[in-house]
Parts: sequence; C-alpha cells; structure tokens
Amino acid sequence: MKKIILFVLSISLLLGITGCSKKEIDPVSRETFALGTIIDFKIYDKDQDKSNEVIDKCIQRIKDIEQKMSTNIEDSEIVIVNKNAGKQSVKVSDETMYVAKKAFEYSNITNGRFNLTVYPLVSIWGIGTENARVPSQREIDQAISNIDYNDIVFDEAKNTIYLKRENQGIDLGAIAKGYVGDEIKKIFIENDIKSAFVNLGGNVMAYETKVDGSKWRIGIQNPLDTRGEYLGVVSVENKSIVTSGNYERYFEKDGKRYHHILDAKTGYPADNELIGTSIITESGIDADALSTSVYLMGLDEGRKLIESLDRVEAIFVTKDKKVYTTSGLKNIFELTNDEFIYKN
Ligand code: ADP
Ligand code: MG
Repeated sequence: MKKIILFVLSISLLLGITGCSKKEIDPVSRETFALGTIIDFKIYDKDQDKSNEVIDKCIQRIKDIEQKMSTNIEDSEIVIVNKNAGKQSVKVSDETMYVAKKAFEYSNITNGRFNLTVYPLVSIWGIGTENARVPSQREIDQAISNIDYNDIVFDEAKNTIYLKRENQGIDLGAIAKGYVGDEIKKIFIENDIKSAFVNLGGNVMAYETKVDGSKWRIGIQNPLDTRGEYLGVVSVENKSIVTSGNYERYFEKDGKRYHHILDAKTGYPADNELIGTSIITESGIDADALSTSVYLMGLDEGRKLIESLDRVEAIFVTKDKKVYTTSGLKNIFELTNDEFIYKN
C-alpha cells in the first residue's frame, strides 16, 4: 500500500515538474551602466529577439532621460537651468518639467526635508565622485543659504523653470531613477511583455508576475552588508520596490562614513536612527521620492507619512538592527536574517 502511494506521489511530482517546465521561459538578461549605476534587465518572453529589442529601447530611453535630467552631463536641461540661476528662465522638455514638479510636490509634503534645490550641498560634498570630501563649515553655511524650494518658478504655459538666486541649483537624483522605472514599464506595456524584472541600482521594478503567475519575491537589501545581501523578502506583483540607504554611495574619512542623502538643515548626511528605508508601491517615481523622504524624516515621522498614504508601504531598518514595517506589509514581508529583529 505504502509503495503504491509513494509511486503515485512520485508520478504526480514528476508530472508537476514537467508541467512547470513547459511554462518555464529562460529570460533574456542584460546588464548595462547608466544613471551612475548598474542596471539589470530580465525579460521573460518566448520571443528572445523581441526581448532584446525591448531592452535596446529601454536603454535608449534611459539615456534620453539621463541626457535631460543629470547634473553630471554637460548641457543637460537641469545643468542649463542651474547655470541660469538668478539670470533667466530656461525652457525644458515636458518630462523634465513633470519630474521637477513632482520633486517640488515632495519638497512641499516633507517640509523641505526632501529638497529639489539641494544641489549646492550635493555639489560641495561631491559624494560618488572622485572629489568627495568634507566641506568646511563656511562652505556648508553658504550652500544651505542657497537652498530654498520656494525660490523655484515653474511656468507651465511656457514650460520653463527659473531659480531666483544665483548659485542655486536643482538636483533630481533622488527621484529620476523612479521616473525611469515608470517609463520602462510603459515600454513593456507597448510591447506586450508579460513578465519582467528590472533593477536600477536599488530601484527594483517587478513587472506583473513571474511567468507561472506567482508573485515575485524581492530581496530587501541588508544595509549593513554589501549590495545583494538581503535581510528579508517581499512577495509582490507589479510593484516598484525602492530602497535608500547609507551604503549606496558614500566615502569614509577618519573612520566616519559620509553618505549621499543630505540633510539640508544641518548640511551633513542624514543622521537619525535609520540606515535603510524601502518603499513598495506601484509608481516608481513616488517610491523613489518617498524612500529618500522617509530616510530623511526618520522612523516615527516617516512611518506616519506612509501610513497616511493609500497603497504605499514601507520597511524601515534602524542602526540597532530592528526592522519596522507599515501595517499593510504584515503578510507580505518576511524577515530572513536573524541578526535583525522584526518589531511589528
Ligand atoms: P539612490 O540614488 O541611491 O537610489 P536616493 O534616491 O535616496 O538614492 O537619492 C540620493 C540622491 O538624491 C543623492 O545622490 C542626491 O543627488 C540627491 N539628494 C541628496 N540629498 C537630498 C535631499 N535632501 N533631497 C532631495 N534629494 C537629495
Ligand atoms: Mg530616492
């Protein structure tokens, strides 16, 4: 009797496995470097040529956006806006206008903690460039005095942006990658892609579901470890999962780590109880802006903000190795690293 049951079991297992493998599709994968980071594509479609073409289109689109919004590319629209600060308004593309206005909205929502006019500070610290250094207090004070998101004038009729004072500047580094994720998604939809996964240096876009219809399982970065080492997993479909952390871009001096999310009040890298924040929501641009925002706001305020928003969830990791999540993640997040304590 036992033997028969075992036999039936192994047959059905075998059937199960072959049943699955019929549906299995090897993804077309590609890594590329853009937006100052490694970008990783995986497209699951039977038509490999089409998948490759879709990746080409995405990369072209990423370069277009970078060309407009980067502060590191000479003559990008944002660089031109910044060069003309205090002088004249500058005409920009619809999409630069859209992203800058979104960044303005988040500057407002967070009372300037997220601040799209943070460029003077970003530029003196130079984090992520070979000129990274701790600026003098004088330089910091000067930079802070030039940061004010209310000094930005949008003219929607003319599609222009103007910064009122010389030495002011816009930085879209905390939001542009999220926008890129949304634009990649549009390309997937236009090309009838059913399943894909994109990682833009910590901004993950889990498009639709896995090929077999099950949810994606996305690792949440362990901020205390190297990139790709996870502390937990979320199971999601069709979501952006965006993480900000002090490990992403930083330099060390005299044993101290200086990372790239800057507090416009102190002029120094954000220094509260948090070392990592992740946002899970459908829109990439909101996820990106919010992950930086809550990182700057700290655990209590950040958690309140996310709980007040519909269909947005967050994970907060603190210095003392505790992990907090918003209420909607209870059955979605799973802690896998026992060095951390799950607090709710
Ligand atoms: P990542 O680029 O690692 O995904 P973030 O989305 O958190 O990380 O963005 C960090 C970038 O945002 C910095 O490199 C800088 O360009 C910009 N930035 C730094 N401080 C602020 C701030 N207070 N408000 C808005 N943007 C900021
Ligand atoms: Mg961000």
